Amino acid sequence: MSKITIAIDGFSSTGKSTVAKQLAKKLGYVYVDTGAMYRAITLYAMEKGLISEEKFHKNELIQHLPEIVLEFKFNDKKGFSEIYLNGKNVENKIRSMAVSNLVSKVAEVSEVRKKLVEQQQKIGENKGVVMDGRDIGTVVFPDAELKLFMTASAETRAERRYKELINSNNNVTFEEVLKNVKFRDHLDSTRDDSPLIMADDAIKIDNSNMTQEEQFDKILNLALQKINH
Ligand code: C5P
Repeated sequence: MSKITIAIDGFSSTGKSTVAKQLAKKLGYVYVDTGAMYRAITLYAMEKGLISEEKFHKNELIQHLPEIVLEFKFNDKKGFSEIYLNGKNVENKIRSMAVSNLVSKVAEVSEVRKKLVEQQQKIGENKGVVMDGRDIGTVVFPDAELKLFMTASAETRAERRYKELINSNNNVTFEEVLKNVKFRDHLDSTRDDSPLIMADDAIKIDNSNMTQEEQFDKILNLALQKINH
């Protein structure tokens, strides 16, 4: 069976990664969470004191980029890959609200995007990949055989993210999460370099009123149609 490239883009907390992980598992494909890569660089910048709510030493971060090594390693117990920043597993640390509040500023930097896009293209060069992010169908893999654009109302997305954060013991309010979701939507859609836009040939999936099962069935069918084409 021939292998294809599956690009899943969309706003934050639309459940892209959940469905992308399930799909990759079902098809035996590699799953790549590109948001995790932008988050890991943000964590690096925070730990080096290069970014905070008050400041952003963008040029210094650009100078540090060659020192930043990102890898994905498969975790057998969890059944998916986790991200490593310079040899350390940072899968949990990158999900904090502190990182979420700063990541879209780091993702605006063209030098950061260039480094990550190159790495993403290398990981997917042999196809058989499900990649989720904001610019996968437009910039990273404009020739992907299947492009999906996921969306849902900001309130629905914030509600889902809030539940996830509370379940993993983060101390946040629903209002904070909703504010962050709207803030990232705005920055991600209005930045100059690779803004979040739907590719002309992407299929839009609004999952505000879909169960995870319904959504997965729909997406799996779309993928199988392309694979068997
Ligand atoms: O997907 P996730 O919400 O974890 O992504 C975090 C942030 O990383 C996004 O809000 C966006 O600013 C940035 N991002 C991006 N391009 C991608 C993936 C993520 O700019 N391909």
